[in-house]
Amino acid sequence: MNFAFSESEKKLAKDLNEFAKAELPPGWVIGGYAEEYCTDYNWEVTQRISKKLAENGWLTMAWPREYGGMEASRTECLLYREEATYNMLPGIDMGVGGVSWIGQSLMIFGTEEQKKRHLPGIAAGETYWCTGYSEPDAGSDLASLGCRAMRKGDEFIINGQKIWTSAGHRAAWCWLAVRTDPEAPKHKGISLLLVDLKLAGVTVNPLINLADMPENCEVFYDDVHVPADCLIGEENEGWRHIMTALAFERTAGAEHLGRSRRMVDELVKYARETHRNGKPLSDDPLVRNKLAHYAIECEIGRLMCYSIAWMEDKGLIPGHEASAAKNYCSELGQRLSNAGLSIMGMYGQLGTGPGSPLGGLTQTAYLFGVGDTLGGGTSEVNRTIIATRGLGLPRG
Ligand SMILES: Cc1cc2nc3c(=O)[nH]c(=O)nc-3n(C[C@H](O)[C@H](O)[C@H](O)COP(=O)(O)OP(=O)(O)OC[C@H]3O[C@@H](n4cnc5c(N)ncnc54)[C@H](O)[C@@H]3O)c2cc1C
Repeated sequence: MNFAFSESEKKLAKDLNEFAKAELPPGWVIGGYAEEYCTDYNWEVTQRISKKLAENGWLTMAWPREYGGMEASRTECLLYREEATYNMLPGIDMGVGGVSWIGQSLMIFGTEEQKKRHLPGIAAGETYWCTGYSEPDAGSDLASLGCRAMRKGDEFIINGQKIWTSAGHRAAWCWLAVRTDPEAPKHKGISLLLVDLKLAGVTVNPLINLADMPENCEVFYDDVHVPADCLIGEENEGWRHIMTALAFERTAGAEHLGRSRRMVDELVKYARETHRNGKPLSDDPLVRNKLAHYAIECEIGRLMCYSIAWMEDKGLIPGHEASAAKNYCSELGQRLSNAGLSIMGMYGQLGTGPGSPLGGLTQTAYLFGVGDTLGGGTSEVNRTIIATRGLGLPRG
């Protein structure tokens, strides 16, 4: 067992740190949060950074060379994502899932034509994607989704509504789950389509989240005609493809982790530099205790994520392990931002405006962190996976 990073892995971390210092505008603190898709300014920075990450070969480093990757190991790829979020680089997933689950699933289930058409745009940092699973009446119980796609000749005609489609207002394409056979048992009548969001009949309405930002969207599909060659895999086999894509999605705990490590480091700096009642905050035993506690938790999260990357490098498929890491890292982010607020007092509540300590990082982490235990499967759903598949308990 070797816990050390190799020289090339250490160099990758250093290169990303230097890249972030050179490329990010002063005061930028939001990489890794969906906020990168919210304001027009953030979106502009995000697009510029995605392209530069692609030019450096980092964006899709784990992909095969023929699709614009470097065939990097999962461990290297995790290190990249952890360091990228630690350094607050936005645009590392080409929308929501473009790199980490849509591109990867396309490589498994897509036709050669679909791969040639869609993968280069992601690898070049040009085409952004969103994921259309959830509906007003289908979230945790995703298999009950009702957005209908009817086959007519060499087209599908889509009618229905999706909700919580993150970055839907910025994405060019959607990885869309639709019902193609309403008569079949609910898991068996679902298909996945690649949908161009510029098609007639698509309406995207950004919804304002609790951070007062347009992040998730409701998307309406009104008689949207999609060519049949946009079907992923076989018709009515979409549930299987969604399960694979969700497995890729849940291994993406690195994002939460990089942000949490950064928050601990920023709070340590803040405690050193801030005086309260005539003494540095870092002398306060309660503050020291909290910071030490969260440094330990970050290390635990790290070990969980790297053990999953190790499994993937060995050809093993992480299931309940990925659910455990996703829960631990996303819940850690919430506990930590709460601790940050208590250490900083009222200053922690300031947003990203000028003069805000830590550039408003604590407030951003607190507000955006709420959704982290919901998106990609809620903590409760993940605990059910751990209980049944990990501990072998019967389904409740
Ligand atoms: C920040 C964010 C980004 C998102 N991005 C996307 C996106 O890009 N694309 C997309 O399609 N969706 C997205 N979602 C939606 C997300 O996948 C759903 O919110 C999630 O699956 C839960 O569904 P729901 O909101 O309908 O809640 P519900 O399923 O109604 O659940 C409500 C509560 O009940 C609990 N619950 C439900 N069923 C069970 C059960 N069987 N056992 C125990 N507890 C249960 C849940 O854990 C939850 O606490 C996003 C959500 C958030 C918050």
